[in-house]
Amino acid sequence: MFNLYIFVVVVSVIILISFKIKSFFSSFGKERIKLEFIPATQYFLNVRAAVEVPQWEAIAKTHYREAKGHCEICSKKARMECHELWNFDTNTFTQKLVGMVALCHECHGGIHYGHTIHSKDRADAARITKHLLKVNHWSVDTLQNKMTSAQEEAARLTRLARNGGSGYKLDLTYLNQKKYRLAELRKMTNDERSRCIKKESY
Ligand SMILES: [Zn+2]
Repeated sequence: MFNLYIFVVVVSVIILISFKIKSFFSSFGKERIKLEFIPATQYFLNVRAAVEVPQWEAIAKTHYREAKGHCEICSKKARMECHELWNFDTNTFTQKLVGMVALCHECHGGIHYGHTIHSKDRADAARITKHLLKVNHWSVDTLQNKMTSAQEEAARLTRLARNGGSGYKLDLTYLNQKKYRLAELRKMTNDERSRCIKKESY
């Protein structure tokens, strides 16, 4: 009986270790924090700018509850920040909200790395950079290359928008879901651009 108990414990430990090793190596090469640079025509156009402060807080809390206090990228238990996920359609010139996630300050700052290095204090920016390199297993050179790519993509989207007109429409129909009813939002449309009031860049 005792031998069987030891056998079960040993096998469980081996399975656990192999799983950890596998997940450690499989995380290499994966871009868990994806840098995002907003096209210049879309600065200050986001959910936060389109709704009242209490409504934004209710929306954000919906996601903090779903994430149970853990960052949805790095899993760290931390004070949460709400990040909006966008899709840019260059045919219809639409910036569409396609999701929202609860993130720790460092992962969120990593996504908005352009904003981080220009606007945050040096200690905060250094902390975010360190976290970004660690979570993505990036070298400083890789970070530089990724920044260049993200900047080029934002410039491309900006150029297309300017050639096609004034910018992208802001589609916030994602917020018409039942789970956001607590926020007492008006019915959102596929063009909320004119309703946005300048608040923060993200
Ligand atoms: Zn995180």
